[in-house]
Amino acid sequence: MGIRSVSPGEGELLVAEEVLHLLRAGGLESAYTASGLDPLIGDPYGRQNTYAFLRGHSSRTIVLFGHIDTVDTADYGPLEPWANDPEGLAARLDILVKLAPGLAEDLAAHPGDWMFGRGVSDMKSGVAATIAVVRRLAQMAREGNLPLSVVLLATPDEENESAGILQAVHFLLRLREQYGLQYLGAINTDYTTARYPGDQHRYIYTSTIGKLLPSFLVIGREAHVGDPFAGVDANLLAAELIRDLSMNDELCDVVRGQITPPPVTLHATDLKTHYDVQLPFMAYFYLNVLTFSTGPGELLARLRQRAQEVLEHTLRRIDAAERRWVRTSGDPVRQERLEPCSGIVLTYAGLYAEVGQQLGEKAVDAELASAWESFPGGLDARERCLHLVRRLWTLSGKQGPALVIYYAPPYYPHVAATPSLLHDIVTEIALSHPELHLEVREYYSFISDMSYLRLDPGIDLTPLTANIPTWQEPGTAVRPGSYTLPLAAIQELDLPVVNLGPYGAGVHQLGERALISYSFGILPQLLYEVIERLGKP
Ligand SMILES: [Zn+2]
Repeated sequence: MGIRSVSPGEGELLVAEEVLHLLRAGGLESAYTASGLDPLIGDPYGRQNTYAFLRGHSSRTIVLFGHIDTVDTADYGPLEPWANDPEGLAARLDILVKLAPGLAEDLAAHPGDWMFGRGVSDMKSGVAATIAVVRRLAQMAREGNLPLSVVLLATPDEENESAGILQAVHFLLRLREQYGLQYLGAINTDYTTARYPGDQHRYIYTSTIGKLLPSFLVIGREAHVGDPFAGVDANLLAAELIRDLSMNDELCDVVRGQITPPPVTLHATDLKTHYDVQLPFMAYFYLNVLTFSTGPGELLARLRQRAQEVLEHTLRRIDAAERRWVRTSGDPVRQERLEPCSGIVLTYAGLYAEVGQQLGEKAVDAELASAWESFPGGLDARERCLHLVRRLWTLSGKQGPALVIYYAPPYYPHVAATPSLLHDIVTEIALSHPELHLEVREYYSFISDMSYLRLDPGIDLTPLTANIPTWQEPGTAVRPGSYTLPLAAIQELDLPVVNLGPYGAGVHQLGERALISYSFGILPQLLYEVIERLGKP
């Protein structure tokens, strides 16, 4: 807790080193078949994953993993100097209780049983529990009593771009190859919390939520404000689309009683750079869409259809307004010539194919590459995509009104709970402890690194990769600012996942806290029991 490890930053490396130190302390180093730090290739901060491997009697292997980074600490306000100091915060509980929602109730329910600080619940207590369990297993291995094999991975960058786990995918594949391992699955020990006030349950999850970032380039048509009907206000189109899509429960996934939070915009703006009296003719926004079951192709088709309807409907309304306006303004010539306005909805991949046919694919690629080179190095990944879409639109020579739908990074696949020994055993252990009120649920609803250990079979990712303007196929020359995921490697790894983590509240808020008795007592015991049971023939 005392090592600040805000992601991305150098502190993450210090925690990785400390985790390794804790694993090896007390003469345990030689008990591991292998342990060390695995550098993240090309990482600007020199960060590394911590790993430890115990080869037991069986090649059947359980993976324990967790992240060692945290979000920033600015939210602590006046208490920020103690954000990484649980004792310092405990000494200032009177201030904390005034600032943190729900804290007074939690203190009353479990007096003296909370630890505070950034990352305490998300998820350094989870990593601590894992270290304790792996040390115990290392002792067993040394005595020749470890029935199965165990891997521990502590990764940075989860709160940022998941660079740690994405590299760990390759590490796990190499390890499997080298030692002939058979993975039973992976247990994450990330934050769990109450689902409602007074909730007595503790939750274990067997699958995880996913996320897509569909983005919209909205093209109107320019006109002077004195004659708006000569053009189309792009902000009006964007607003109507946002009205239809944002916070709309029709776009939620429902699976066996669990429902995703609805989509919301994370950013919306027109593309004017200065004041003038011209109609804004381009706007853009992107939408955070959380998924349990909807794949990138399905979402794109759904959004395309809705966008088509919204565009039609809005243009008809503008036509009607124009007819009334022209009638009132008394311009008979214009009244004769009135024509309904029409618009198109395209995907990035569709537009790319069309422009490729007009100009030749090579010419289009060269144009996009030269645009790419002109962008500043630190350009936001969403903006980079936007500028490429704009460039492609300009190349097309088409006219608005139009909508171009595409995907921007990041993509987190949802992972469904498929039948597995790991899931059966987790359920069995939960049922064997009625006193703990453990409930096994399906989808872990916070975006997490679990997304990158498995891809649902049959998921078609071409609609995703073909619609991310900055997508880079793994293995091709890396362009600065490109986006890639080791999708084939994830598919090959294919691990069932479980989240069995600490219990807390207020993560990403100044009241972040972990329940000590559960997180440091019950959790390591449960982890141990699951692994022990997995090791039985
Ligand atoms: Zn976390």
